[in-house]
Amino acid sequence: MSLRALREVTPVSGDEAFRNEIRDWLAANLTDDLRGAGGPGRENEAFAQRLAFARRLAAAGWTTLAWPVGHGGRGASLARQVIFHEEYARSAAPSRVDHIGTTMVGPTLIELGTPEQQQRFLPRLASVDELWCQGYSEPGAGSDLAGVTTRARLDGDQWVLTGQKVWTSLAHVADWCFVLARTSPAVEGESRHRGLSYLLVPMRQPGVTVRPIRQLTGDSEFNEVFFDDARTDRDLVVGKPGEGWRVAMATLAYERGAATVGQQIGFQRDLDDLVALARKAGAAADPLLRTRLARAAVDLTVLRSHTVRTLAAPSPPPANPSVVKLLWTRWRQALAELAMDVLAFQGSEATADEVERWQRLFLFSRADTIYGGSSEIQRGIVAERVLGLPRGDRR
Ligand SMILES: Cc1cc2nc3c(=O)[nH]c(=O)nc-3n(C[C@H](O)[C@H](O)[C@H](O)COP(=O)(O)OP(=O)(O)OC[C@H]3O[C@@H](n4cnc5c(N)ncnc54)[C@H](O)[C@@H]3O)c2cc1C
Repeated sequence: MSLRALREVTPVSGDEAFRNEIRDWLAANLTDDLRGAGGPGRENEAFAQRLAFARRLAAAGWTTLAWPVGHGGRGASLARQVIFHEEYARSAAPSRVDHIGTTMVGPTLIELGTPEQQQRFLPRLASVDELWCQGYSEPGAGSDLAGVTTRARLDGDQWVLTGQKVWTSLAHVADWCFVLARTSPAVEGESRHRGLSYLLVPMRQPGVTVRPIRQLTGDSEFNEVFFDDARTDRDLVVGKPGEGWRVAMATLAYERGAATVGQQIGFQRDLDDLVALARKAGAAADPLLRTRLARAAVDLTVLRSHTVRTLAAPSPPPANPSVVKLLWTRWRQALAELAMDVLAFQGSEATADEVERWQRLFLFSRADTIYGGSSEIQRGIVAERVLGLPRGDRR
């Protein structure tokens, strides 16, 4: 089977009029300088231009495609969301700067926010006039998220926050942060999930300090965030005070979805480019490198078929997000490692730009198996929920 044939195994078909609508919009609005901008390890690249592009997307109603019509969205079916992400990725449109807001906070507020919170935040989320970051992880709480120690107490009509978050992606450009904080002490013998609250906190105030963290790639996409008597209004708690765990988990459930399909089209482009580089370098004739390239093509086809099938399933298996995360992170790390071997192949004629691109992906992809739930945690979930093995020491 040719690479092309493999690639066409699982196209999302139907709704050609809708597909043409997004294709036409992209053809009219996507300028060459924006193609391929941003992405893994390049989150700060052409940021102002990508923000302007996100606002154009928003004005055309694309950023809130999945939101219900009653909340200013287009109420698109899952199939249409997948088509949008396919076409977006296929056109090499820039990596989105609004994803934390439009795909995580917006849907959370639609599901669990008060009408006042929805009126206050949804329009500016939809128009990408306000950017958001996610304040969950702390130096002592990552996988064990219920261990957060950032505290918030009421002072009149405001919450006052003290504590530290870490690895906060895009905090340096965010206007708002959704923060998981402890608002009442953990009680011995009770679940530590109780007493946590989900607060919406303005970033641009004297009590908030953002310090960039330099990553392996040399760039700083995430940060430490310090709250020193930072303030937010009493009514900017989502869900009831003390019951923020449920809200925090709802947000995480929105993190992955139809966009996964677009990500896999980006993977296909990476693979195509690596095959082209391997041909140029003569590495495509090397039996071991050829085998690994072919395996990458097969594994990507399996990943894509699995994703499309389970996205469309009425009730996908409960551990499915864990399986997909394990599969795609392993795939991308393997591709990046393969790219290093192709670059190292004797006589490689890679340009400086090609070397930079693949090295950056190699370095950044080390993080893939950490963020969004580490591989060890995902394997623990599969062990418990798929295999029915006894629960480990995860609390
Ligand atoms: C690029 C990147 C961006 C991020 N962006 C954000 C963000 O915007 N907002 C945010 O809040 N956080 C963010 N994070 C943080 C991320 O969510 C955490 O790094 C992740 O949850 C792991 O937590 P930790 O780093 O504290 O590691 P730990 O939880 O301390 O884990 C350390 C090691 O122990 C393993 N381990 C832990 N518990 C278990 C267990 N029960 N069983 C087996 N193994 C275990 C882990 O797999 C890991 O290998 C980001 C991280 C990265 C890398």
